[in-house]
Amino acid sequence: MECPICDCKTTLIHKVNEVEFRKEKFTINETYYECDNCKEKIVDAEMGDLSLTQIYNQYREKFNLMFPSEITELREKYGFSKTKMSLALGWGENTYANYEKGAIPNESHNSLLRLIEDPTQFLKLIETRIHFFPKMN
Ligand SMILES: [Zn+2]
Repeated sequence: MECPICDCKTTLIHKVNEVEFRKEKFTINETYYECDNCKEKIVDAEMGDLSLTQIYNQYREKFNLMFPSEITELREKYGFSKTKMSLALGWGENTYANYEKGAIPNESHNSLLRLIEDPTQFLKLIETRIHFFPKMN
């Protein structure tokens, strides 16, 4: 990897760093290239994803937010598609899919997800929203 700024050699760095995310501080293991000459920090897509995953996971743990795997499991428990799940919850069409892909649920969405882990609550929700579902013939 050459430095995109001065074309000099770079060194692969592994370092424990404190980063800020949504006004909270998190400690992550960062991997990046550093230019031997101008000290520019170079992060490729994979390195960026790795750092972001660590931050997101810590953020989820701190605020008791559901992980993507839990969000998928919850949906599969009810045998719903992602779109149908969004419809049941009154969310934008792709919202549920985005959470399964790794987006962090906002607090009110997260509370709703926790609530519908209980099938009785899920059934209640469906009953109040039944008129939004396409008619079955
Ligand atoms: Zn450089």
